[in-house]
Amino acid sequence: MNALELVSRLRTFLPPDAVLHEIEDLRPYECDGLSAYRQMPLIVALPRTENEVIEILEVCYVAKIPVVARGAGTGLSGGALPHAEGVLLSLAKLKQILELDPAARTARVQPGVRNLAISEAAAQYGLYYAPDPSSQIACSIGGNVAENSGGVHCLKYGLTVHNIIKLRVITIDGEILEIGADGLDAPGYDLLALMTGSEGMLGVVTEVTVKLTPKPEKAQVVLAAFNDLRSAGDAVANVIGAGIIPAGMEMMDKMTTRAVEEYVHAGYNLDAAAILLCEADGTAEEVAEEIRHINEIMERSGAIEIRTSRDEAERLKFWAGRKAAFPAAGRISPDYYCMDGTIPRKSLANVLSGIEALSVEYGLRCMNVFHAGDGNLHPLILYDANQPGELELTEKFGARILQMCIQAGGTITGEHGVGMEKIDQMCSQFKIGELKMFHAVKAAFDPDGLLNPGKAVPTLRRCAEHGAMHVHRGEEKFPGLPRF
Ligand SMILES: Cc1cc2nc3c(=O)[nH]c(=O)nc-3n(C[C@H](O)[C@H](O)[C@H](O)COP(=O)(O)OP(=O)(O)OC[C@H]3O[C@@H](n4cnc5c(N)ncnc54)[C@H](O)[C@@H]3O)c2cc1C
Repeated sequence: MNALELVSRLRTFLPPDAVLHEIEDLRPYECDGLSAYRQMPLIVALPRTENEVIEILEVCYVAKIPVVARGAGTGLSGGALPHAEGVLLSLAKLKQILELDPAARTARVQPGVRNLAISEAAAQYGLYYAPDPSSQIACSIGGNVAENSGGVHCLKYGLTVHNIIKLRVITIDGEILEIGADGLDAPGYDLLALMTGSEGMLGVVTEVTVKLTPKPEKAQVVLAAFNDLRSAGDAVANVIGAGIIPAGMEMMDKMTTRAVEEYVHAGYNLDAAAILLCEADGTAEEVAEEIRHINEIMERSGAIEIRTSRDEAERLKFWAGRKAAFPAAGRISPDYYCMDGTIPRKSLANVLSGIEALSVEYGLRCMNVFHAGDGNLHPLILYDANQPGELELTEKFGARILQMCIQAGGTITGEHGVGMEKIDQMCSQFKIGELKMFHAVKAAFDPDGLLNPGKAVPTLRRCAEHGAMHVHRGEEKFPGLPRF
């Protein structure tokens, strides 16, 4: 089926403006938040109901046309990058909050609902949806499920997977799967966890039931400055080691604090090598006790300056710099590339020193801002896409950072997913048996490989060609595959 035949087939059940195929209409969909990579789709489909999603998938399944689901397109790993021969399936029009149950503390929502819109709707009951990606004003809950997104609050309240209880998912052949349960446990395999973080490779999410959390009575944040990254890293480990689970624990290096201070005037210490923000929330008594303990630990860990927010305005001011880190990078560099890897907390100082050395080696500046509590790094490599070769250099720098994360015992993604960006690093992260298992799972849901092809899980051939495979006790890797 060619593009025009597909358009007319889809227009038998979709209105004309829900099937886009003119170049100027397709252009807004050519990339997600990873704008270094662009690809025009064959067509864009904009269903308004679950039934329309099913019909679109059925058409694509029969005609063997690839389908890439898209929420708000804020993903940072190219997960929603279109397929040249495929349909870009936008879920943006499915944006209703279907049910809000304050007694059960749940909300049943369509996939295009914005993350923050759930908390806004739940606020009247003193409730909110805890996972809070920095993009929460724009990103959709369907995208959050597909990426298993996290945010500042996830250290204490869990990732997306810990905050959803049920999903409705449409398989590539149009079947409806109802996954999860109202109770704490459900019989059978845990398909809810499998689907969460599956990056649009296994099915299309059409409904999500999320847990709502009571808003804490009070929140207060400690802002601590350190002379060196090692002491700041130790402070993070000491807080967790003392049995405290902060509501958020974020770190910024000197280049970041300088960039954001110019922008938001949060009052950061500009001479410090690192700044740590550590928040406590709960009842007034719990917060007072935890803040006292955090202050003590910061002092013991060698902080050169410690400030505690005195009121809500000051708390928000302290956070303002952290929240503005990405736009601040955009102010000091024409382009930036946000990496996302995790490492064990104890490796923080070593890995950050390694990134500093790579920055010198590649001649590219790098800002470090990250979810310190869970060891999730976000190095922002600053570059200029108009300078020939600089993007390629940036990609190499980024790949070396991810290799370092693996060597430190961490992972190549903390929360942004693999998409197409980190697909080669998957070859280093996983062994052949594990990759085969991933392919078997994919084949069980989507035997023809039509959903989001080429993303998240590399083919074994790709790993052989890439030559960066996981070495385990000297085992020969992919022995059956030719070397290139
Ligand atoms: C400034 C900025 C800050 C960010 N901060 C964070 C952060 O703090 N934490 C974090 O985790 N992420 C962050 N992100 C990344 C991004 O916002 C998240 O990954 C988010 O969950 C993507 O949601 P989306 O609706 O934009 O999805 P998209 O980008 O549209 O899609 C992401 C992936 O999900 C799939 N998908 C989308 N909808 C569906 C569906 N209904 N069914 C099946 N698959 C689907 C797509 O195919 C794709 O693979 C940030 C991004 C930006 C631009």
